[in-house]
Amino acid sequence: MTNRKHKSRSAIPANSTARRPDAPRSDAGAVPRSGTGGVGAAARAGGVAGPRRAPGNGRLLTLAAAAIIGIAVLSIGGWLLVGRSPGHLARRADQNVLLITIDTLRADALGCSGGRAATPNLDALASDGIRFDYAHAHTVVTLPSHTSILTGLYPFQHGVRDNTGYRLQPGIDTIATLLKGAGYATGAFVGAFPLDSRFGLTRGFDVYDDHYGETNRLTAFAMPERRAGVVVDIATQWIRQQHGKWFAWVHVYDPHAPYQPPAPYDAQYAGHLYDGEVAYVDAALGPLLALARQQARPTVIVVTGDHGESLGSHGEETHGLFAYEPTLKIPLIIDDTAQSHPFRAAVTDMPARHVDIVPTLLDALALPSPKNLPGRSLVAALERGDRSEPASYFEALEPFLNRGWAPLTGVLVGRDKFIDLPGQELYGLSADPGETRNLLPQEAERGRVLDARLREFDASPQQAGARQRESASAVAQLQALGYVSGSAPPKSHYTEQDDPKHLVGLDREIHHGVELFQTGRPIEALQVYTDLIRERPEMPLGYLHAAFLQWELGRPEAAIATLNDALAHDASTGELRAQLGIYLAESGAADQAIRLLGPAMATDAPDVDALNALGIAQSRSGRQQDAIATFERVLRLSPSNASAWQNLGTIYLEQKDDAAARKAFTSALALDPALATALNGLGVVELRNGNRAGAIDAWKRAVASDARQFDTLFNLGITLRDSGDTAGAREYFQRFADTAPPAFYARDIARVRAWLGKR
Ligand SMILES: [Zn+2]
Repeated sequence: MTNRKHKSRSAIPANSTARRPDAPRSDAGAVPRSGTGGVGAAARAGGVAGPRRAPGNGRLLTLAAAAIIGIAVLSIGGWLLVGRSPGHLARRADQNVLLITIDTLRADALGCSGGRAATPNLDALASDGIRFDYAHAHTVVTLPSHTSILTGLYPFQHGVRDNTGYRLQPGIDTIATLLKGAGYATGAFVGAFPLDSRFGLTRGFDVYDDHYGETNRLTAFAMPERRAGVVVDIATQWIRQQHGKWFAWVHVYDPHAPYQPPAPYDAQYAGHLYDGEVAYVDAALGPLLALARQQARPTVIVVTGDHGESLGSHGEETHGLFAYEPTLKIPLIIDDTAQSHPFRAAVTDMPARHVDIVPTLLDALALPSPKNLPGRSLVAALERGDRSEPASYFEALEPFLNRGWAPLTGVLVGRDKFIDLPGQELYGLSADPGETRNLLPQEAERGRVLDARLREFDASPQQAGARQRESASAVAQLQALGYVSGSAPPKSHYTEQDDPKHLVGLDREIHHGVELFQTGRPIEALQVYTDLIRERPEMPLGYLHAAFLQWELGRPEAAIATLNDALAHDASTGELRAQLGIYLAESGAADQAIRLLGPAMATDAPDVDALNALGIAQSRSGRQQDAIATFERVLRLSPSNASAWQNLGTIYLEQKDDAAARKAFTSALALDPALATALNGLGVVELRNGNRAGAIDAWKRAVASDARQFDTLFNLGITLRDSGDTAGAREYFQRFADTAPPAFYARDIARVRAWLGKR
């Protein structure tokens, strides 16, 4: 063992670029570590949605902040506004704009909406501005919903229908492009992967900060995300640097599952940790809201959620499956730090929609609104006492696109809600805010009218599977490979068997498997997905999860066989092929992987993960120059892709180009300081350059970040042994022998055990 070279062989790890099965595909994929069906969820499930009413008054809302003195109750047109006498908004072109989107925030989560979380900062904002108590999203997943918030368009208009596979088309204005054109400095600060710069929301932003680190270091099923406090720090630094008027969009992700609030919120909200995340986010936003109030010029502030969270309602744990009020209804607060604005301390149940946000902001800033926008200025509607009930389109297509289930679309008109599925539903939210009684059997005509309103939108979910921006020549090739036709090809006809209501049990199984894995029970999780493949052999998701677990359990042949089985059953997707390509490359079949993934190169906007997988395969087959070109292309498409930097560093390391390797690893670590494989590689560079202490330091950080860095454990053992630290060497060799999978490390484990046995 003495002459053994330090390991850097698998510094491109099996899953360094692989998507976690399901997780990045759907932001509804991950489940909380525990307790989704527990006390908190059960308690929350009953009390959701619908405008809260005071007895005897059809439109009256109760104000949580009842202590506000001198409240006037005014009926403006059909809607009640509880608060100050409305005047007219001073349209001012010189105002800053702060847009805060809080991921997965239920409409009833804030203290001011009767929620259980303490949210003093947002409550204060609401009591200073106007709170819309009947506001809705148009979709229940992160990227499409944010695209609606930023463009003012419905999903079928902006074309982004799911978290992956779509990019915002060129030529579509967003609030960022419009404000940039009006002379604003523009900055975006996002909390998690679904809003990665690769998806095209960067347009119009001077700064688009998405440095959450694209790794899977926590668990293979966790989404890359960063805490609200970190996002707010970066956003406030940027705001302080501005001299002219600015627009900042701040996205915080924490309330998304898994619910893991930091101390002291974890203890304070034990048993209902979702509320703990909401309370933490409120505290984290405090400095940002304070800074907005300190600005020399006034700031228009908009706070909303992209969608809610089911917390067990209708059998759904998180979001994405259904479009019931717990996930479709969202909070909306608009404030203006100018002292003279008219809507102070007001709450209204006038219908508000995400598509109304852009027109409202443009109106407040006295800027013209593009003609194609379907929304309206909410402040103008309040001022003129608009009694209309504009229809609001919505959809939940994630199960349709990724699992082949029936597409869910629907429409809200006033308090009537119509859901179009094989089993159609109609609810009157005034009398039935919990959506417990489907009125269609008794009210068929009311249903037909709403169905006709829905058809007017021409939302064509069947077209949603068309991926965008692939060049014509590549489309034919890619279609054959399953890249462009969507993960689950649309059927010509859907029955009750395809209705998510019928499949909610299957959805819970999928989440249960994720939970089993996250709690260290991979064998049981594998059984869940093996059963799932048998039940739904046409659904790619079961294969992806099963193969991932087989790989993690050290059964590479089984993992590859499972994914090949998916191809044989016509259940292939771009994601599945990227995963298979990586497994093949890692198992010594790199040429096979290149044949599988090569067509991904021949497009204008290829799948970044498939490209990364191709680079790994090229590297494995000795085509280092091709691999370098591929990773450099990844970085042109996605400059914050830490994995690509890490992989480049690994190639330079193998080529003994220490300077280039150090630069690449340092770039990777600047994006994600805890990136374990880059830390391992950096340690190798340090050791080669005679810096043994620096190497040990980097490696210790690597294994602290990811205990499954087996090469690093091995390297630490050797280096500590060689420097005479036998106790230290024992510790890391023991960890290596105890945890490294024998399928990959049998010989090294045997040698390490022999060494340990002699001491
Ligand atoms: Zn979201």
